[in-house]
Amino acid sequence: MLGLMQEHPLMISSLLEFAERHHGDGEIVSRRVEGDIHRYTWADVARRARQVARALDSDGLAFSERVATLAWNGYRHLELYYGVSGSGRVLHTINPRLHPDQIAWIANHAEDSVLAFDLSFLPLVQAVHARCPNVRKWIALCDADKLPQDSGVPNLVSYEAWMGTQPTDYAWPKFDENTASSMCYTSGTTGNPKAALYSHRSSVLHAYAAALPDVMCLSARDSVLPVVPMFHVNAWGIPYSAAMVGCKLVFPGPALDGKSVYELIEAEKVTFAAGVPTVWQMMLGHMKPANLRFSTLKRTVIGGSACPPAMIGAFQDDYGVEVLHAWGMTEMSPLGTLCTLKNKHMEMSPQDRLNIRLKQGRAIFGVDMKIVDGDGQDVTWDGKAYGDLYVKGPWVVREYFKGEGGDPLVKDANGQGWFPTGDVATIDADGYLQITDRSKDVIKSGGEWISSIDIENIAVAHPAIAMAACIGVRHPKWDERPIVVVVKKPGAEVTREELLKFYEGKTAKWQIPDDVVFVDAIPLGATGKILKTRLRETLKDYKLPGL
Ligand code: AMP
Repeated sequence: MLGLMQEHPLMISSLLEFAERHHGDGEIVSRRVEGDIHRYTWADVARRARQVARALDSDGLAFSERVATLAWNGYRHLELYYGVSGSGRVLHTINPRLHPDQIAWIANHAEDSVLAFDLSFLPLVQAVHARCPNVRKWIALCDADKLPQDSGVPNLVSYEAWMGTQPTDYAWPKFDENTASSMCYTSGTTGNPKAALYSHRSSVLHAYAAALPDVMCLSARDSVLPVVPMFHVNAWGIPYSAAMVGCKLVFPGPALDGKSVYELIEAEKVTFAAGVPTVWQMMLGHMKPANLRFSTLKRTVIGGSACPPAMIGAFQDDYGVEVLHAWGMTEMSPLGTLCTLKNKHMEMSPQDRLNIRLKQGRAIFGVDMKIVDGDGQDVTWDGKAYGDLYVKGPWVVREYFKGEGGDPLVKDANGQGWFPTGDVATIDADGYLQITDRSKDVIKSGGEWISSIDIENIAVAHPAIAMAACIGVRHPKWDERPIVVVVKKPGAEVTREELLKFYEGKTAKWQIPDDVVFVDAIPLGATGKILKTRLRETLKDYKLPGL
């Protein structure tokens, strides 16, 4: 017997319709690329998102065509989130920190038809537009009178001229909730970047989950600052959850330095913020010497990389701000676990509580997780035994866009598919996950991926290099930085400086290794694979130059 409840597809547009009706006067504050502060409301977002949908219709964009963005966190980006997905197209947020070659590759792979960009990224657009033949319209996110003249970019229009004259009424279409809504490429693993393709259903379910009390605990009383970029897995889902709960949204634009973020928190009475450890490192670094305090900030979600214990302690003890350590992935929309305490922990000593808070936390309902050994057998949840971390759930990828990389799922005895995260973890008896290592061959610096393989490939392209291995080394600001360990060809010569110079122009500047270590041999396993664990052991006393 089936239930007798109404059937309504879960649609991203319904989040916006709800926001307009129930908290239409809720504020959205954005620091613009121009430097000034822009203010408006959820009702304005809804009206202008409808104009965006209309403009896409006028341009004849088909259902599921891709609209890309190269943009900071701001109100126009938010309008695209809703206008593009709500009208049945797919929003493709591109990470502007990537090398232009990677951006062009990604835009072509996604078959983006339109690309909207903040003016700070005009040089990037000028570098890639000729290599993106599929893009038939370039939209500068600015007023008509700010549109750059003689930019050399064909079919360039200003956002305001493009959507501003459209009628403000529009009936959001209803369609299958499993329709693709947005996409995000991850360059986290080896080979070409692969895209997670989110659906309306997965995004709305994730938005419910993200707002739960033991997740981000978002409410209509909050003023929320997503420092995490809208090009990083939909700013961890905050733009959707915010519409659901009616909190104030504060967007930092391009100003992500410690001073600007701190001043925005104070000026906009921010109660909740979210970002990677590096951002908070910069903010605490600004606050400490000037003896600054927070007036309103209560909670901050820190994730994307392991949160250093000292940071959790500093937020808690020096500023009375609760740190919620979170773990997730692009492939998981991104939230997987979040660290909040259980009732029984409240009587514990502050040190014992801190030890729990250092973990990445408990699974959110909707995410099943398990740790397995080399034979695929479940590892006990005792907080000590570790294994490869697998996940499944309605906001976890089934496969990548265009089937790239083949079927990523690993089947269990019941035929259920689990996504192998590439992380190694323990889980304790209370269900708290702790990431202990990474089996995937990548380095995460300041929350951004660097592929070790790419770094190694560039090194071995140098005529004097026989073999190269790239590993991550701890760094106080960036969490990890890459170094490249190399073996020279017999009789060949190259200096550290020459090799580092060789990287210039071949990869993004911040992906260039911090150092070169010359060795006689690199340890190899039986199959000829570089034994990075052995290499890391050998270099355990290594210190980055200048630290
Ligand atoms: P991304 O797809 O860029 O969001 O990166 C996801 C990966 O970042 C995870 O698989 C982990 O390797 C790493 N990561 C994310 N959050 C954390 C965390 N809190 N602690 C340690 N590693 C993390």
